[in-house]
Amino acid sequence: MKIHEYQGKEILRQFGVTVPRGVPCMSVDEVEAAAKSLGGSVWVVKAQIHAGGRGKGGGVKVAKSIEQVKEYANQIMGMQLVTHQTGPEGQKVRRLLIEEGADIKKELYVSLVTDRVSQRVVLMASSEGGMDIEEVAEKHPELIHNVVIDPATGLTDADADAVAAKIGVPAASIPEARKNLQGLYKAYWETDASLAEINPLILTGDGKVIALDAKFNFDSNALYRHPEIVAYRDLDEEDPAEVEASKFDLAYISLDGNIGCLVNGAGLAMATMDTIKLFGGEPANFLDVGGGATTEKVTEAFKIMLKNPELKAILVNIFGGIMRCDVIAEGVIAASKAVSLKVPLVVRMKGTNEEIGKKLLAESGLPIISADSMEEAAQKVVAAAK
Ligand code: ADP
Ligand code: MG
Repeated sequence: MKIHEYQGKEILRQFGVTVPRGVPCMSVDEVEAAAKSLGGSVWVVKAQIHAGGRGKGGGVKVAKSIEQVKEYANQIMGMQLVTHQTGPEGQKVRRLLIEEGADIKKELYVSLVTDRVSQRVVLMASSEGGMDIEEVAEKHPELIHNVVIDPATGLTDADADAVAAKIGVPAASIPEARKNLQGLYKAYWETDASLAEINPLILTGDGKVIALDAKFNFDSNALYRHPEIVAYRDLDEEDPAEVEASKFDLAYISLDGNIGCLVNGAGLAMATMDTIKLFGGEPANFLDVGGGATTEKVTEAFKIMLKNPELKAILVNIFGGIMRCDVIAEGVIAASKAVSLKVPLVVRMKGTNEEIGKKLLAESGLPIISADSMEEAAQKVVAAAK
């Protein structure tokens, strides 16, 4: 799960990380009062969307007067903000953060991720923070320093100080950098985050260390123990099909292709998508209906897939283990009728009561294309989508 920058900064503040003062605004009417309450003479108007690269896309603007704050807020609110993370269609801006302007002397980069190889949290840090960190990672990987953190000790003073020095924090600011890095680690650890990225972490003219941006992702499997994080969820930022699917406990991910996939088991779902691609097709989604593929679930899954205007064909690939193939067949037939299916449907099922299931499909009177192997199923659905 992702959250907005202003929410991430709320979390950071709770863990003792220094962030600029700011006021989130849900409408342009609120920005004048927000800027006045912050005081000062420089403000930053920041689009709040669940994607990075906002600055380059025109979603972050420095204002030198209250008039300018209002002007930029009007420009940014409601815009379709396109960044390298949103895709070409962009994301509509519905929230703003009005923040005090910081006196940036140097932009640094720090982030935490869970590294599968070391099975530990890794701190990545670079002196080359700011809006071009992707380029730094590509062209100058030697400028990115990694610290593998032992969960028994957390981020130690020694490690924090050493990495701060490596990325160019001057000696006088090291204690403050340490406090921020350790606070960031604690925030990451205690919220079950899967990514925490501060880009930029800045050094100010007077030697302060401040987190100027905040990007968090959280492990969805741990959300049950974080109601305070779930409360940050913004459904406007999420894919409507994925939100709908989650209500029915379907593991669904939207993709760019035109072949809908309904599969039980994540491994089989991945293999099904690979096979479709092998035969020149493009999956419209990943979908694991789980162990209990009931008629209701299959119907909802069909409905969600059919909302996609790109959809040209559906492949149902089911392994009947505990779940019997005849039950699945009944579910597929009932669901096809319920949604009056207009696109070609290829069904492959294997396992318990396979023969009865196939017979039910054949006798249903529905134009279902039956397939026996994965290969045959993929070839048939790719052909049907053309
Ligand atoms: P994104 O990473 O999505 O582009 P950031 O929050 O990092 O958004 O903002 C982009 C850039 O805008 C930063 O690298 C920084 O240079 C500038 N910036 C952001 N917030 C402030 C602020 N409060 N004061 C001054 N400059 C800021
Ligand atoms: Mg940033």
